[in-house]
Order: sequence, then structure tokens, then C-alpha cells
Amino acid sequence: MDLTTVREIRTPSRRDEIVFAPGERPLGGGTWLFSERQPGLTGLVDLTSLGWTPVERGIAADGRDVVSVAATCTIAELLRLPADADWVAHPLIDRCANSLLASFKIWNVATVGGNVALGLPAGAMTSLMATLDATALVWTTDGGERRQPVSTFVTGVVQNALEPGEVLRALEVPVDSLRSRTGFRRISLSPLGRSGTLVTARLGLDGEFVVTVTAGTTRPVQLRFDEVPGERALADALARVDCWYSDPHGDPDWRRAMSVRFADELRVELGRPATGAPGRPVRETTHDPRSAAARARRTPPTTTTPGGAR
Ligand SMILES: Cc1cc2nc3c(=O)[nH]c(=O)nc-3n(C[C@H](O)[C@H](O)[C@H](O)COP(=O)(O)OP(=O)(O)OC[C@H]3O[C@@H](n4cnc5c(N)ncnc54)[C@H](O)[C@@H]3O)c2cc1C
Repeated sequence: MDLTTVREIRTPSRRDEIVFAPGERPLGGGTWLFSERQPGLTGLVDLTSLGWTPVERGIAADGRDVVSVAATCTIAELLRLPADADWVAHPLIDRCANSLLASFKIWNVATVGGNVALGLPAGAMTSLMATLDATALVWTTDGGERRQPVSTFVTGVVQNALEPGEVLRALEVPVDSLRSRTGFRRISLSPLGRSGTLVTARLGLDGEFVVTVTAGTTRPVQLRFDEVPGERALADALARVDCWYSDPHGDPDWRRAMSVRFADELRVELGRPATGAPGRPVRETTHDPRSAAARARRTPPTTTTPGGAR
């Protein structure tokens, strides 16, 4: 839609031009900004004009090998990221992209950073990055930078940890996370609907078991265990979650019930020894009719209902 209050769109080419006047906001792909009224918005600063390399390999500040995903990398560009042979977590990129209500047409414009910075509960790039233990690299207003886990970057519904004037520069994904086994579950009230809950699990190379809940909660919830937990320990941890989301896409009780069920399924799934050759990810059960696994089964889409998944 036309944003009739916007008077100027600036296209910076250098960092020192990213200074926001009152009423100005960063522009990623604009797929959300131009989708609804933006009261008080008078100007946009187009981050895509900075020409950041979409994806590059590097070494993070803590010495770890990382894949650095620029905030302006589009979802479509991220999907084209070639996988190393041992990146068994790579299919999660496809699963999370397909978890967005947004179609492939939006993927060509929507940015990964825009999805994370927007902070919708159903922000599946947040799900992806939090699952992979990615770090948000933030450009601060004094010309410096700071880092924070993506799992804590989104703090509530359309809320994030950015201070005024700060910009999300990149998302740094540890390569070891891409080598980890992961599991994925998602459900929505209708086959192509917005995510009701999206639960992932990741088994780290050191045996750490990490469950991440998004969409079902107002902010990402991450539960970490030194090893695959028992049923009781996982259920107890989930019972302490206090931010189940309520909107037309699902009641909090249903979101909690499905998240608990999915987390336990993933606990069992990742607790089993891996099967398949290295680099050939294990096909996962999924409740998402749009997932690659579901498409591969070549069966008609299955409607998932609040009463229970297949
Ligand atoms: C049909 C349709 C379906 C959609 N489905 C979903 C869905 O299921 N889940 C979902 O989460 N979203 C959905 N969206 C919303 C949106 O398309 C996505 O969230 C998208 O990823 C946003 O990225 P963008 O680059 O277009 O962000 P923009 O629209 O450019 O920006 C979004 C917000 O983030 C800020 N921002 C952008 N980049 C940065 C940065 N680098 N640093 C700081 N702030 C920044 C902007 O100022 C703005 O406030 C949907 C949109 C449409 C049109």
C-alpha cells in the first residue's frame, strides 16, 4: 500500500549515513512496512543500498567458524545457500521458509533481518536463527557493534532488543550448529495458515539438547539440557513457560498442548541414534503440509486441526 506520510526514502552507501531522524525507520524488503498503515512514519532508510554480501563464511569474535547472513539477505538468497556435506541441519532453512504465511514471491524481497527485527511470533527466520544458536550482530549508534543471541533478541510481539537508532547488521550462524541434528514440528489452524506453534530441537555435537518454541509463544522460548532429557524433565521445563500467545491463529491452551506434544516427539526422535549416511539428513515426521517432507510423500495435503495433529 502507499505510505502517504513518507516524505523521503534515503539510500545510504556508507555506515555513517545510517542516522535516523525522528519519524525515520530502517527499510529492509518492505514487505511488512508497505503492508499496513505506519502512523508517524515520515522517512525510510533503505538498508539494501549498502550492498552487504548476503551470505559469507567467516570467523566470529569468539573464534568460532560462522556463516554470516546479512540482515538484508533475502529469504530466497538464504534458501540458495549451498550446504557442506556434513550440514545435516541445512533442510531446516527450507522448513522454516515454508513456515511463513508469505509465499515464494515474498521470499524474493523479504529480508532475513527484517523478519527477525519485526519480531512477529510467527517470524520463522527467528525460529531458524534461534534454533541454530545464531548471534545477532547489532550496529550501535556510537559507531560500534554488539552481539546478542537471536533467542533473546525478539523480546515480545513486534518488540526487539534494539535501542533507538540501532540496526541489525547480520546474523552469525555457528557452522557447528549446521552440523547438528535437528528436528522440526509445526501446526496451524488451517493447512496454509499462520503458524500456531513451531517447535524445533537441536542435538549439539557435544550432546547438548536445545528445544526452541516460537509462534506459540509471544517471544522465542529456548530450553537447554546438557543431554537429551527424560520425559518428566522436559515436561517440567515446558510447564514453567509463561508466555503462550493468544490471537486468532490459536488459543494459548492449544498452543501449549501442541508445543508440549511436539517437544516430546522431538526428544524421542533425537534421542534415537542417527540413521542415514553423513550429509543425508534423516527424514523427519512433520505436521506441516507445505514442508519438503510432506511434498515428498506425494499425498494430498492433510488438514491439521486444533484437536490434534496426524
Ligand atoms: C502475504 C504475507 C504473508 C506474511 N507472512 C508472514 C509470516 O508468516 N510470518 C512473519 O513473521 N511475517 C510475515 N509477513 C511479514 C513480512 O513479509 C516478513 O516478516 C518479512 O520477513 C519482513 O522482512 P522485510 O525485509 O520485508 O521487512 P520490512 O518490511 O522492510 O521491515 C520490517 C520491520 O523491521 C525493521 N527492519 C528491517 N530491517 C531491519 C534491520 N536490518 N535492522 C533494524 N530494523 C530493521 C523495519 O524498520 C520494520 O519495522 C508476511 C507478509 C505478507 C505480505
